[in-house]
Amino acid sequence: MRASARILGLNGGGSDGWDLYRRAKAMIAAGEPVLELTIGEHDIRTDPRILDAMDAAARAGHTGYAPVPGSGRLRDAIAARIERMTGVPTTRDNVVVTAGGQAALLAAHIACCEPGDTALTIDPYYATYPGTIRAASCVPRAVPARPEDGFQPRAEAVDAAAEGAKSLLLNTPNNPTGAVYSEATLTGIGEVARARDLWLISDEVYDAQVWQGRHLSPRGLPGLAERTLVIGSLSKSHAMTGSRLGWIVGPEEMVAAIADLSTNTNYGIPGFIQEAGVFALGLGPDFEAEIAAPFARRRALFLEMLRRTQVLRPVPADGAMYVMLDVSGTGRDGEAFANGLLDAERIAVMPGASFGAAAANHVRVALTLPDPAFEEAARRLIAYATGLAA
Ligand code: PLP
Repeated sequence: MRASARILGLNGGGSDGWDLYRRAKAMIAAGEPVLELTIGEHDIRTDPRILDAMDAAARAGHTGYAPVPGSGRLRDAIAARIERMTGVPTTRDNVVVTAGGQAALLAAHIACCEPGDTALTIDPYYATYPGTIRAASCVPRAVPARPEDGFQPRAEAVDAAAEGAKSLLLNTPNNPTGAVYSEATLTGIGEVARARDLWLISDEVYDAQVWQGRHLSPRGLPGLAERTLVIGSLSKSHAMTGSRLGWIVGPEEMVAAIADLSTNTNYGIPGFIQEAGVFALGLGPDFEAEIAAPFARRRALFLEMLRRTQVLRPVPADGAMYVMLDVSGTGRDGEAFANGLLDAERIAVMPGASFGAAAANHVRVALTLPDPAFEEAARRLIAYATGLAA
């Protein structure tokens, strides 16, 4: 017996781009002191007050099957947050709760596309995107964004790739590049989406992490709400990665259809997690700012340190918990640089190629170590690059 071609083909036949990450993990397991700047996870744990709310909810009986689209209270709290941040009127009927942003990405593609349809992404992309699209029985097609544009995607490039496509997956603030899409970028892409009749799947899991400019959702632009599904999550904004609590916000009929999919897949998110989510959202924007603050601090420190070298050129890192660096000044591509850095300095960063071809000359540095360890890693990374260039 053999597994299906669909599941065996999730990685498109190549590497899944996580080889360096696995190598770093193996070194750590073997007791080596690796400074790890790979994945997007906070260096703090979930706030004890949220854990208390989770515990209290479980003890109060929220341990049975929970409402599948999400509890009314949670959907109200999510709708209120989205309305506050985007100005678009949003009710609980626009919200379905999912197992993190990741499950929302899969559900959104299943909801927007037929099997075999082409689904567009912007390259560089979050590493799971092509596999998620294949899991929905669709065909990923990457639209390259350019380093010289600060990785803001061009509307013409989307248009040139749009023939036969059904959806476009956007991500702002962006992982891996840190780009925050401008109004001009989103307006131009919105025009293409209307002309080409594309669904916009807008991954906004980093909406609380904006350091420069402001977060804009395509759902907030004129005439786009009816063709936009927003993906969100408490993972990054509330340091709740392990709680697996996310959502899709969109037109009511789409949300109802996605709730049907949930009934037939996970049958809802645990009630005690949903209650913890209500409590977490009740902590308001000040709490989200508190969770984001360390990344803002480390980004500022890193950019200041990078000003003293010509060898590493940062992509404008306007949002999200990463800084992407062009390493071509060292004479190496991102993969060779990251592997060399791991061997020589025991510092792990992600090669840009893990996120698509457009970032092959880059590495992504996650701002996810406590300040003193981060500063040491940054200093040694810059010294390593300077040594290579010399
Ligand atoms: N989207 C992007 C761009 C991400 O970077 C991540 C996680 O790193 C996710 C979605 C998935 O997040 P979660 O499933 O934890 O909400």
